[in-house]
Amino acid sequence: MSAELAILGGAPCFDEPLHIGRPNVPDERRTMALIQQAIDRRWLTAFGPLVKQFERDIAAAAGVKHCVAMCNASVALQVLIRAAGLRGEVILPSFTFIATAHTLLWEGVTPVFCDIDEKTGNLDPAHARRLITDRTTAIMGVHLWGHPAPTEELDALADEHGLRLFYDSAHAIGSSRHGRPVGSFGHAEVFSFHATKFINSFEGGAVVTDDDGLAERVRSMHNYGRGEGSVVSSIGTNAKMTEVAAAMGIVSLENMAHLIDVNRGHHTRYAEGLAGVPGVVLRAPLPGNRINHQYVVVEIDEPVAGVGRDALAAALTADNVLVRTHFDPGCHRTAPYAQAPQRHAPLPLPHTEALGSRVVMLPTGSEVTSAQVDQVCALIRRIVDRGEAVAAAAARN
Ligand SMILES: *Cc1c(COP(=O)(O)O)cnc(C)c1O
Repeated sequence: MSAELAILGGAPCFDEPLHIGRPNVPDERRTMALIQQAIDRRWLTAFGPLVKQFERDIAAAAGVKHCVAMCNASVALQVLIRAAGLRGEVILPSFTFIATAHTLLWEGVTPVFCDIDEKTGNLDPAHARRLITDRTTAIMGVHLWGHPAPTEELDALADEHGLRLFYDSAHAIGSSRHGRPVGSFGHAEVFSFHATKFINSFEGGAVVTDDDGLAERVRSMHNYGRGEGSVVSSIGTNAKMTEVAAAMGIVSLENMAHLIDVNRGHHTRYAEGLAGVPGVVLRAPLPGNRINHQYVVVEIDEPVAGVGRDALAAALTADNVLVRTHFDPGCHRTAPYAQAPQRHAPLPLPHTEALGSRVVMLPTGSEVTSAQVDQVCALIRRIVDRGEAVAAAAARN
């Protein structure tokens, strides 16, 4: 079916590829000016003024006391896992980027995958509860696609069982739940500022927390285990952010409110453009949640649309709309976790499998124009119309 649809398309709808995750580049002149200042100062890394400012700005955006900026989110997760002394098993959703799981295993902790609520894509606290054993030390939530996780229920579950609670918030800076910003939930959260994320610093990440002791351990461990006066007090690594990265991060963060507006505008336009297309449903935030709209996610109901997610994605790609799917397969289906299912996925994860086969991300962000959003909507409408025709013809034969 997918090949047939692509051939029916003729010349691609877009001459230039329209990418998902094309970096949002903020005010270039201001970014370059800050970078020039760092070069003039000859202070390129190690807690320079730009990293310090970026940390203050991120802490303010997250509504917390402490932010430790690092070279990327994966290393920030590793430093946090070690600084928090996590051992044994940690429960996390399988429906996430592989780094959420790998960083735990890398630090000698066993990731145990739980299922999601298909309505939100976030981990299901009731399922997480069934995975708690006497080896469980923490829950690592993920605010999937910027949608805040069910934080109240996870707080209650963690309290009840004496577990620590952390969030991989790589998708979610700028999102909030009942007015409370992502970054302020659980014992600590981790942001990513990778080039393709909402706020970018080329590469970057940060641990944010209100816990003074944890912040101090994280800060020390990301700097070779050094504390006051550079005295080494523990094992550590080098996870520092550079001044160049911080310059980009500062300007990117200054632009965040504007970017949320742009993305919300695109989201609304997609909602209008796709209204009434059978079997194509745009995912929206739950009441009480505000999201950064970093991702525009549509769910394809194959029997209704007459075309499956994979066929739709192939047809869009043939028309130069380079869409992406998430997270298919889920982490539990990939190495090395798939080789030890009883250890990492002791219970079936039907909702993870189901959602992973139905969703596709559409282009958004400051590099995408409203006219392009309209074109993508029109294209999806045509593909679904055609898909229905193909399905009807197949039914007649
Ligand atoms: C991008 C991402 C990461 C890793 O971030 P890096 O900064 O690239 O290391 C971790 N978790 C999730 C959910 C992500 O999307």
